[in-house]
This record gives sequence, structure tokens and C-alpha cells, in this order.
Amino acid sequence: MPSTTGPLVTSDRVHAARSLAAETGTDLLVLTPGSDLRYLTGYHAHAMERLTALAVPRAGEPFLVVPRLEAPMVGVSPAGALGLDVLAWDETDDPFALLAGAATARLGAAPSRVAVGARTWAEHALGVQRALPGSTLELAGPVLDRLRMVKSAAEIEELALAGAAIDRVHARMVEFLTVGRTEAAVGADIAAAILEEGHVGVDFTIVGSGPNGASPHHELSDRVVQAGDVVVIDIGGQTATGYRSDCTRTYVVGGSTTPDVAEWYAVLHAAQQASVAAVRPGVTAEQVDAAARDVIADAGWGEQFIHRTGHGIGLDSHEAPYIVAGNDLPLVPGMAFSVEPGIYLAGRCGARIEDIVVCTEDGVRSLNGGPRELVELPG
Ligand code: ZN
Ligand code: ZN
Repeated sequence: MPSTTGPLVTSDRVHAARSLAAETGTDLLVLTPGSDLRYLTGYHAHAMERLTALAVPRAGEPFLVVPRLEAPMVGVSPAGALGLDVLAWDETDDPFALLAGAATARLGAAPSRVAVGARTWAEHALGVQRALPGSTLELAGPVLDRLRMVKSAAEIEELALAGAAIDRVHARMVEFLTVGRTEAAVGADIAAAILEEGHVGVDFTIVGSGPNGASPHHELSDRVVQAGDVVVIDIGGQTATGYRSDCTRTYVVGGSTTPDVAEWYAVLHAAQQASVAAVRPGVTAEQVDAAARDVIADAGWGEQFIHRTGHGIGLDSHEAPYIVAGNDLPLVPGMAFSVEPGIYLAGRCGARIEDIVVCTEDGVRSLNGGPRELVELPG
């Protein structure tokens, strides 16, 4: 499997994770294949029943536990350049006992607080706990999110490349979205374009035509696009380095925008602009949410905006920080997240505008371009 390369991943990350573990009183972090492991080591490992794990004790050297048959893949991945100890296990070994023994040796005592990744498989989390009886298991999120939420300049450039790639797909929408085609056919063409324009994987293709647009996570169906439909297109993929795109534009196909649609879409557009404009260091995540929500609520559409305003993005499509009421986290430069208010009229149609933005030293940078207005396609 291809792995991330070069300057994106340095040994600083795993050492920063160790320092944060010590600071938060976590004795041992255990991270299995997925974005946390890829973030810390550059190793884009295959998730399966055999245990692969990065173990980070709060003291002593971090190490990787890997099935012997996959040990060569660690060496050729960026993790191979980090100088991590690699403990390979054979098919009849107990990898959990290997991990527990090595962590205990480094700490000088059995770890009591063990934290696992949020998306670690239950069989692996429970295997670690069984091998460390008396330990309590918790989530590594408080440690990993603090690191991953604030992107380096190199990471922001990866997100910008992903954003430009998905913008090119939206710019080609006239090729795909036409009257008489099913959402499924439109979605298949969009998926192909997501790959053609510079992604290595398609994460999602939402084509919400007419009444389906009122369901924010509707993906594809056999519904045929009708003349005059309002269509929500929310699409994203991942680039070779694992960074994600996610961008929504709303279209009108084969007809012109009716005055009532134009009226509430203008409210949505103003809300999205207000929310983006609110982004700067020190503003809280919930204030960014409120900036969009207040505009929509003041216009009387508050009940039709049925989700949070946004989510962080990086090696996962959805990650911290979440832009939602109740999240009083202050923004800092380097945080990257979506701003995506929507208005949904059940049984009729919906609309959403989504950009990925980055909090900068003095404000905000949008990683998407293209018109945020309703885009009329000839059909
Ligand atoms: Zn989206
Ligand atoms: Zn999104």
C-alpha cells in the first residue's frame, strides 16, 4: 500500500505524543492502523485481525508491534526512517503479550492508564486490556486531537492540493449533471472525475436531487434528475498523501432559479460568508457555528438547518475540531475545518454551501474556490 512521504512525517510527532501522554498522565498509547498511526509514523498499514500497533509509553522509546510478514513494509514506509524499534511477531505468538511486556519493561512497571485510538478495533483494544490486567482503557483522542488539529504548513499545502482537485471536479459538473440521468449515473461520473483530477480514492459522492437534497447525507439513488431540480452535490476524496477534500455546491439543472428558492438560498449564502468571515485566532468553534446559525435563524429558517456548521479535516474527512454549539475551543492558526451550513425543506429540496478553510495568523484562508452562488446548468 502506498505511504506518505518525506517532510510530512518526522520523528517529532511521536515524541510530541509521548510528551502529551506524560502531561496527561497516560502511561501508554496504543495506536492501530488508521489515521492516527499514519499521522505519527507515516505507516499506512492495512487494518486486519493480525495486530499492528504503535506503542508509545510515557517514558522510554516508542515501538511498533507488527506481524513478521508485514515487517518489510514498515521498513520501506516513512516509518522506516524514524528509527522506531520494530517488534515482529510470528503467527503462533501472542502479540498482545509482546506489546505488554515491552511497554512494562520500558516503564519499569505495568502501565495502569492505557489509551487506544478512537477507531481501534474492539478485538485489539480488548486484547491489550487482557494482556495488562488491572489497567484501565481510555481513548487517545485527547492526546492525538491536540496534535492533529493544528496542521503544519506542509499539511495545509496537502489540503490545498486536495481542495484544488475537488474544485476541478465541481468545475466540470456540466459534463455530468444533466436532466434525464439518474443520481447514480451522475455519481459514477463524478467518482471517476475525482480520481482523474488528482485523488487516489473517492470518499463520498452525494447527489441530492430535488427532494433528496433535503436529506443532508443522502448519497445516490435511481431518481432521475428533472428539469428545474435543485441539486446538492457534496463530494470528497483523498490524495496520495492521505489528505482529504470535501466540498459542496448547489446547482439548478435545466431551468432557472425560482424566486422563492433564490430568496432562501441568498440567506444561506450570507450565512456561509458570515461564518467564514468569523474565523480568526481566539474565536471559538461555537462562535463560528453561531455566525452561520444566527443569520439563518434570523431569516426564519433555523429549524431547517439541522446539523452543525462544520468539522475538522486532515487525514480523516471528519476529525476535530467540530464547529458546533457547546465547543468553546478557541481557534489557533493551522486549524483546518469545513464551513457548511445548509437549509433543508423536507419533501421539496435542500441546499448547502461547503468550503474547507484554515485559520491563519490574522484571519482565514479558503482552500476551495469556485462560485458559492446557485450554479445554473443548462440541463
Ligand atoms: Zn461535504
Ligand atoms: Zn463536510
